[in-house]
Amino acid sequence: MVRRAITVHGVVQGVGFRPFVHAAATARALAGWVRNRTDGVRIEVEGPAPAVEEFVRVLSREAPPAARLTRVEVSEVPPRHERAFLILESDPDAPPRPTVPADLATCPECLAEVASPGERRFRYPFTNCTRCGPRWTLIESLPYDRPRTSMKGFALCAACAAEYRDVRDRRFHAQPIACPACGPRVSLLAPDGSRLAEDEAALRSAVETVREGRVLALRGLGGFHLLVDATSSEAVTRLRQRKRRPEKPFAVMFPSLQVLRSVCEVSPEEAAVLTSPAAPILLLRRRQPGRAEVSVAESVAPGNPWLGAMLPYTPLHGLLLEAAGRPLVCTSGNLSDEPLCIGPEEALARLHEVADCFLMHDRPIVRPVDDSVARMTPEGLQVLRRARGYAPLPLSLPEAPCLLALGGQLKGTVALCVGEEVVVSQHLGDLGSLEGSRLLARTAEDLLRLLEARPVALACDLHPDYASTRLAERLSGEWGVPLVRVQHHHAHVAACMAEHGLSGPVLGLAWDGAGLGTDGTLWGGEALVVEGAGFLRVAHLRPFSLPGGERALREPRRAALGLLHEVEGAGAVAHLQESFTAREAEVLVTMLERGLQSPRTTSMGRLFDAVAACSGIRMQAGFEGQAAMALEFAAGAGEAEPYPLPLGDGTPAVADWEPLLRELLADRKRGVPSPLMAARFHAALAVLAESIAVRVGLPRVVLSGGCFQNLRLLRDVRARLLARGFGVFSPRQYPPNDGGLSLGQVAVAAHSYPTGPVGRTT
Ligand SMILES: [Zn+2]
Ligand SMILES: [Zn+2]
Ligand SMILES: [Zn+2]
Repeated sequence: MVRRAITVHGVVQGVGFRPFVHAAATARALAGWVRNRTDGVRIEVEGPAPAVEEFVRVLSREAPPAARLTRVEVSEVPPRHERAFLILESDPDAPPRPTVPADLATCPECLAEVASPGERRFRYPFTNCTRCGPRWTLIESLPYDRPRTSMKGFALCAACAAEYRDVRDRRFHAQPIACPACGPRVSLLAPDGSRLAEDEAALRSAVETVREGRVLALRGLGGFHLLVDATSSEAVTRLRQRKRRPEKPFAVMFPSLQVLRSVCEVSPEEAAVLTSPAAPILLLRRRQPGRAEVSVAESVAPGNPWLGAMLPYTPLHGLLLEAAGRPLVCTSGNLSDEPLCIGPEEALARLHEVADCFLMHDRPIVRPVDDSVARMTPEGLQVLRRARGYAPLPLSLPEAPCLLALGGQLKGTVALCVGEEVVVSQHLGDLGSLEGSRLLARTAEDLLRLLEARPVALACDLHPDYASTRLAERLSGEWGVPLVRVQHHHAHVAACMAEHGLSGPVLGLAWDGAGLGTDGTLWGGEALVVEGAGFLRVAHLRPFSLPGGERALREPRRAALGLLHEVEGAGAVAHLQESFTAREAEVLVTMLERGLQSPRTTSMGRLFDAVAACSGIRMQAGFEGQAAMALEFAAGAGEAEPYPLPLGDGTPAVADWEPLLRELLADRKRGVPSPLMAARFHAALAVLAESIAVRVGLPRVVLSGGCFQNLRLLRDVRARLLARGFGVFSPRQYPPNDGGLSLGQVAVAAHSYPTGPVGRTT
């Protein structure tokens, strides 16, 4: 007879782990107990030595699909000669650790129940179990138990309570379980807030709304979404006008994988991601129109060969999509880039002019969690927007003290490091509005309170005007702790290093739109050698001026003018005559000559814009990055001779785009097709990456920054570097764009405070 005390760390709460442990122990006639602790799951088990050893092996080998075990500690304790194996109450006094589960898409068993007329949860929109359902969107505090979730107001009925207590049941200790007798219900409201229908009648009317081409606001899992018929260009146009979003692609939810396959190419790996517990929006290649039985309106993603597609991830979505019998646009319930609405009053106030009716439910949403966006690359899944299904799963950061990082501005996230693990918040969106900066502050408070953390330092960007920087400065003053200001591109590289567990030195290529550099100019085409808390800028693009600064984000022609002006002065306008009126050109040239509102930049994103404009592909953009995307799509997969983009001597070395620009203009004059020009440009950047890597000579190269969302660029750069024997790393679970900055800031700050106190309030 032996007894073992086992502590299991990782994502082991809210994923059916304790019932699994109970089943594994009782199957081997072992005694003891299991209990949730705030830092994981604690087990004591006793019985004959071989059976106990097998039990320990089974723990990691056969754990439930949504569990993620990071560490299992086993120690010997004296036997107590118990007879039964028990599941004990959670121990609320142990210090909390970041093992908070993410929301999980409906599991196959629950789907089957919802579809079976004999079941008591037949057609019940809030069906869930230990393997699926809401988690992060309803947890109010830890440890994870029903009284500390937004389900606390729904008392279990006798039938649900029996399932909750039965260790053999799939709903044993499933905290959010509910049924039609005791759980949340749906209702349909008019934009003025008046009630139109309840339950089944509400669902039916909601479906009619979208089938008639009108706009439905749906209170879903992590907030409100706006739904319209994706097959109707009229309906899509209506939504675009009301939401003030003229061109940015919408995501589409499909009733089934089968219908999705008729619109997009879906590989087996992609199908596995779509049907995984995270169930993100996945960017998929659209099939040629005409071949599809179901057609998605072109206006859903204009001029884009990719479509953001997902499958229903709650029974409520499943019932709606099934009855609608067609794909539906499913986009965040907000105006432009404001944060997602989560409360009914807030949604009615902000969306009453956008939606024709509102399908509500009465389960409070604790925090806004938008859909994640990911795509499959040849190297595996890459998350581009990290939210539902992935946040707040932690990343291990050994020897790091307690730190809080506030991230960037356009794709806000917060990162909190506690107990040598970093929790990065869900994507918060654009923090430029008042709503946005409030959401940022709430999210920081939320994480600090949940994980009972007391940071020894804060980290933020160098940019003084970011809402995140201002919040960091305020908190630093209030708490009396130091603030580490991390250069934007340093953070991009550090985030990828943290994710892959790399310590320096590495060469980081950080290519993006713009971030403030240490010299006060806007950087963005950077090569940095990163090691520990420091970095060396080893190469960058030749600087140019951006007439009108921020306004250039939506006007690629301005970047083109800035570039041309750099080499030709006032003569630049001659190349862009069809793009500007005489008056516009005069104003912009004057700004450039006098240096008025024309910041200096080395931005790779703006170089993409300039090339898109000079090759005639795109003069204006409905959103940042649209011109760069158009250039990527134009380039396709075709091979082409690279444009010259020579790398100068010295440190930092300057990559001179002037020869590239001159050859591009000559191509344009000769009538070379724009796809070929686009391909030559991409090839030039890959050669540049190779030249820098060879010059620097470090064996490992990190590729990060928003430009590496460009699949063609990523592929070409990787191929060249791998062929030269470099190890190449790019972001996987955390976005290459500014959504990854907070993680990078934490990683850099951890090097500045390597041995700080652990930072617990206890
Ligand atoms: Zn389930
Ligand atoms: Zn019930
Ligand atoms: Zn950036």
